[in-house]
Amino acid sequence: MLLRMRSEDLFSKAIELIPGGVNSPVRAFRGVGGTPRFIKSARGATITDVDGRTYIDYVGSWGPMILGHADEEVVAALQEAAAGGTSFGAPTELEVNLAQEVVDAVPSIEMVRMVSSGTEATLSAIRLARGVTGRTKLVKFEGCYHGHGDSLLVKAGSGVATLGLPDSPGVPAALAQNTITVPFNNAAALEGVFAEHNDIAAVIIEPVVGNMGCVPPQAGYLESVRKLTKANGTLLIFDEVMTGFRLARGGAQELYGISPDITTLGKIIGGGLPVGAYGGSREIMNNIAPAGPIYQAGTLSGNPLSMTAGLVTLRRLRDKSVYEQLNNASRRLCEGLSAGASEVGIKTEINRVGSMWTSFFTDEPVTNWETANRSSREQYGKFFHAMLEEGVYLAPSQFEAAFVSLAHTDDIVYQTVNAARSAFEKIKRADRY
Ligand SMILES: *Cc1c(COP(=O)(O)O)cnc(C)c1O
Repeated sequence: MLLRMRSEDLFSKAIELIPGGVNSPVRAFRGVGGTPRFIKSARGATITDVDGRTYIDYVGSWGPMILGHADEEVVAALQEAAAGGTSFGAPTELEVNLAQEVVDAVPSIEMVRMVSSGTEATLSAIRLARGVTGRTKLVKFEGCYHGHGDSLLVKAGSGVATLGLPDSPGVPAALAQNTITVPFNNAAALEGVFAEHNDIAAVIIEPVVGNMGCVPPQAGYLESVRKLTKANGTLLIFDEVMTGFRLARGGAQELYGISPDITTLGKIIGGGLPVGAYGGSREIMNNIAPAGPIYQAGTLSGNPLSMTAGLVTLRRLRDKSVYEQLNNASRRLCEGLSAGASEVGIKTEINRVGSMWTSFFTDEPVTNWETANRSSREQYGKFFHAMLEEGVYLAPSQFEAAFVSLAHTDDIVYQTVNAARSAFEKIKRADRY
């Protein structure tokens, strides 16, 4: 390349001004090498960078953009809402409408509190669980990511896993000690923890993991987790920040028929604007201030812009056929990728639930962090860059889920499968030398 890309110039400047040049770690491409593309705009299934290159996008802002980018109805509703004021610090009808939408959709939620990020939702859910049970300890699963709260940055997935970081400095040992981690998809390990501890406030889980790459629960596993928590007076928190409204309208809990005590949401329910939420039964939720004594507040919580984008998005997802469409497009895509890889003799394991999937460069089933972690980061990095050259933007890490949106048409899926075929051939050729 003769000319320096504008993305490279911007990145050089960004690293002088912003730690690592980014406002969230995985964006920096450290998991795959190279310079991150600076994005100028997006529309439907594609994003366009500052150098004018357009890519088919499977990141979807890490999950929220289920309708596709710059959806016309969302944009129009946002323009109208913005003209009426962007935040009042007082209740609005929009908040009631979005709460109703969530309560109608998610089986275990009778009441819901809006916050401004998934991190804030999980932090608040844990405080609630500790406040309600009067217990302190928390169980999480290796490779699951629940935002960057102190108690949750222990053996975490997503960027922590991508960067291969040990648990973060700055988390007080006294806090980390209250978090017990166990492997995912291993009911016996969880049973062992309950045999040793009788003071566990909550078990928090991604019911389908997205943050070590996509890892589904094995048959009967979520049932066991539900049974064990109930038997021990421990609250079960489903972190559905990624899976909520993604796998089904009612999230993973609808898909698998399991009822958690508390659910956290985010991503899709904000339609691309900052949002998070946590909800559960009336009995549990009425412990939150000002209904009850457990404190949690937020200046911009439930702001009219996030509520508007969320409402338009969730209303469009009322029609069950959208999940069929997402599932069919994703199945065709993943079958095409698998076929492309095996034709050239590259070993991949593709995990998929609905429109969430990951292609792991490994030759064994990926069922937990240990098996995910044996995938080849190097092969993934080569695949990522080959795909980028072919005009397809995947997550810049082996340990993230990819997302299909309603804007990913048959034609776009077909283009992606063809691009992948070329990409696999390219990395196979490179491997020979
Ligand atoms: C993205 C995510 C979070 C964190 O949400 P933010 O809005 O990034 O704070 C928490 N839990 C899960 C399962 C997520 O996927």
